[in-house]
Amino acid sequence: MTKTGRNDLCPCGSGRKFKKCCEARERGTRSRVMMLVVGGAVVAAILVGIASFTGERATGPSRAWSTEHGHYHDANGMAVP
Ligand SMILES: [Zn+2]
Ligand SMILES: [Zn+2]
Repeated sequence: MTKTGRNDLCPCGSGRKFKKCCEARERGTRSRVMMLVVGGAVVAAILVGIASFTGERATGPSRAWSTEHGHYHDANGMAVP
C-alpha cells in the first residue's frame, strides 16, 4: 500500500480529499493543543504579574513608616501592625 497523497481520497472513507479531511483535522487538533499550551502560559504569566503587582503595592508608597509611633501607617493614616 502506498502513502496517501494530500489530493487522494481520504482513507477514512469520507469521500473527501485527504488534505480536506483527516489531515486538516489532525492539524486542527495539534494547533488546539498548542493554543492550550500557549493559553496556559499566558494565564500563568498574567497571574504571576498580578501577584507581583499586588505584592509591590502592599509594600509600596501606600505605607509610610512612622518613627514617632514605631509602626507603619497606610494611605488612610491607619496604623499597620
Ligand atoms: Zn478522513
Ligand atoms: Zn501610628
